[in-house]
Amino acid sequence: MVQNPRNVVVIGAGTMGSGIAAHLANLGLEVTLLDISDESVRAAFERAKKARPPHFYVPETAESVRTGSIDIDVYRIKDADWVCEAIAEKPEAKKALFALIEPMLRDDAFVSTNTSGLQIGLLCEGRSESFRRRFLGTHFFNPPRYLKLLELIPTPDTDPQVVTAMSRFLEDGCARRVVVAKDTPGFIANRYGMWCMYHAVHCTERLGLTIEQVDAITGPFLGRPRSGSFRLNDLVGLDIMQDIASNLTARCPDDPYIKHLQAPKSLQYLLDKGWIGEKAGQGYYRREGKELMSLDLQGLGYRMRIEPDIPSLTALSKKPLGDRVREGMELNDDLGAFLRAYVPLTLEYAEFLKEEISHNVEDFDRVMKWGFGWEAGPFEMADLVGASKKSHYSGGKMLDFGGEYVAVRSEPQYRAITDFPVTETHDNFTVRDMGDGVKAVCTTTKMGVFTVGLVGELKSYLESGKLERFVLTSESRSYSAGFDLQFLLDAAHEKRLADVDRELTNLQSLGRVISQIPSVAAVFGHCLGGGFEMATSCSIVAAHPETQIGLPEARVGLVPGGGGAAHMRQRHGASAKSLTEAAKTLILATVSTNADDARKYGFLRRSDVTVYHPDRLWTEAKKLALSAVATPEDSWSQVAGPVGGMVDQAFVDLLKKGEITEHDHAIGEHIKHILVRSNTFEEALDRERAAFEALLVQGLTVSRIKHMLETGKPLRN
Ligand code: NAD
Repeated sequence: MVQNPRNVVVIGAGTMGSGIAAHLANLGLEVTLLDISDESVRAAFERAKKARPPHFYVPETAESVRTGSIDIDVYRIKDADWVCEAIAEKPEAKKALFALIEPMLRDDAFVSTNTSGLQIGLLCEGRSESFRRRFLGTHFFNPPRYLKLLELIPTPDTDPQVVTAMSRFLEDGCARRVVVAKDTPGFIANRYGMWCMYHAVHCTERLGLTIEQVDAITGPFLGRPRSGSFRLNDLVGLDIMQDIASNLTARCPDDPYIKHLQAPKSLQYLLDKGWIGEKAGQGYYRREGKELMSLDLQGLGYRMRIEPDIPSLTALSKKPLGDRVREGMELNDDLGAFLRAYVPLTLEYAEFLKEEISHNVEDFDRVMKWGFGWEAGPFEMADLVGASKKSHYSGGKMLDFGGEYVAVRSEPQYRAITDFPVTETHDNFTVRDMGDGVKAVCTTTKMGVFTVGLVGELKSYLESGKLERFVLTSESRSYSAGFDLQFLLDAAHEKRLADVDRELTNLQSLGRVISQIPSVAAVFGHCLGGGFEMATSCSIVAAHPETQIGLPEARVGLVPGGGGAAHMRQRHGASAKSLTEAAKTLILATVSTNADDARKYGFLRRSDVTVYHPDRLWTEAKKLALSAVATPEDSWSQVAGPVGGMVDQAFVDLLKKGEITEHDHAIGEHIKHILVRSNTFEEALDRERAAFEALLVQGLTVSRIKHMLETGKPLRN
């Protein structure tokens, strides 16, 4: 059996096959993608390259995927460590394909199907014992790059060692979280998740509520994504919902709850019209210009959005999840009515299904959390609202199907930052013990913003010499949105430039102090401006793959003031061309779309690491911290060539093309001076501060900062 698959052949280049191929190529695996013909694979892969959101971290990776037709290129199966089938959902076609490839398959290779609705065991009927031992379901979710859940479904013939080896490979090599499911219709995610989606529509229709009301209730209020119920239906596609529902209805005749999968009136209406959601341009919602129109479930026509008016929802929203749902269920209003109709039955159905479809309640909960983005799975929710006599989880144990408490899996590699014990609490950060002498310094400000308070406090703390090595990260939803703009706006209004200079000096010194201690920045979400400047001062940046990284100070009419431009100068100083590119990156306020993209702009260094597994950022950062070496950026090369002229020309070109405004151009002058005229790192820091302060008092800059604070969006003036 292959221990570390490298070479993967994906068959079927549609929505899933292309997405899986792209995801594996993103991770550096050797990928071949086959479809019926050269034309079909080419057309499908062209669509995949343009997918929104993108499948690839950087477009160039698409070139590494070899494409071909199953007729001509089937011989490539010989090299495959793993063949992943993702062709259309037709059992006979899948079976014929497995018969075709079997003679070419290496004895030690894995074979899997991505089916979402067929019985896996039936698909390998007629195949050899050796084939059946290595065959199983690998159910990826759409889009594969973004959804970490993978349901792994062995058949009774699958070798348990294959399950173990595949689980390990899918977690370590493919950056997935694996849940082993049973070979039952729809596995866990579709059997239960689709049912919940239908159930929400039925409840809405029965209670005469609006889709906006129910989206508000079933979004963050219920601990679920903002898409709520009806936006989610449109995103998934009403046709896909119907396919899955009819497959489940046909395959589960004895399930007393399956009748809920009959199409609600509104769903049938939309299906009949072909208005199947996002991909058809309309479904429960329809975009008309700037308006998002909503379907009126009574009259079945589109109307203007009606803002949901449920005062109790707002009043309860600050309470913990369990409290707000429990208290909400008691209310005598639309919220109470919906929660009473919706929640208890979802918990009851999970209870009914659990043993049939899952190995334990934790797996069941994980599927709903990782596949549907729920904050709590149904069994966790039952505990939170006190719905069952005996808690499903208690004291680090879970209730098994026999009613006994058993240990939950210990998976230290997936520890979240909040799982590490707090050793010190400060006003703006906590210190956590990651073990082996590594401490985590976790900012606790909103969005990880580097406020004046945080900078001062952190600087004194690190200067005290208490930490020998550390991980810099945040307990917020994002590593850092940057330096505190409100402080800057107030200072600009009150003309307190001396204060600004002092705080920028502090920020720059904090960067210097960080650079003198072996450290790793664990970044995720946003890593912008001041937050980036502190991260890049660490010996290594360990980045979650989807991190947006950059120095977008120009968006608020400023230049980097905490060493960002100095770092860019140092990294791009080797040639006039590369320094010109850096100048353009800064004037255009470029923010990378992901961590790999950030390398292109020089925001991440060669020595920085993308941690591709979305749940291993902190344990990987800790590992890196153990061998990190402090690397203050002291070297400074002199740039050869007519850099100033090249930068000027580049800016003029951008101005002519309308990509920058006159005010951007003025900001560009400052950027150019920092990059071109500085003879040392320290001098670049001084120039940054001077430029920052000169710009901060300008009306156009103040308008930009104000606009950003008020709307969260940049103002182009
Ligand atoms: P799709 O229709 O987008 O693509 C199927 C592709 O397979 C097409 O490009 C087609 O030309 C090709 N194909 C068909 N027969 C072939 C053959 N014999 N040899 C080679 N190529 C062949 O389908 P999809 O949505 O990508 O679904 C693929 C599989 O993944 C299905 O089993 C589906 O149930 C499952 N799945 C889909 C989703 C989803 O959200 N779309 C999610 C999880 C799993």
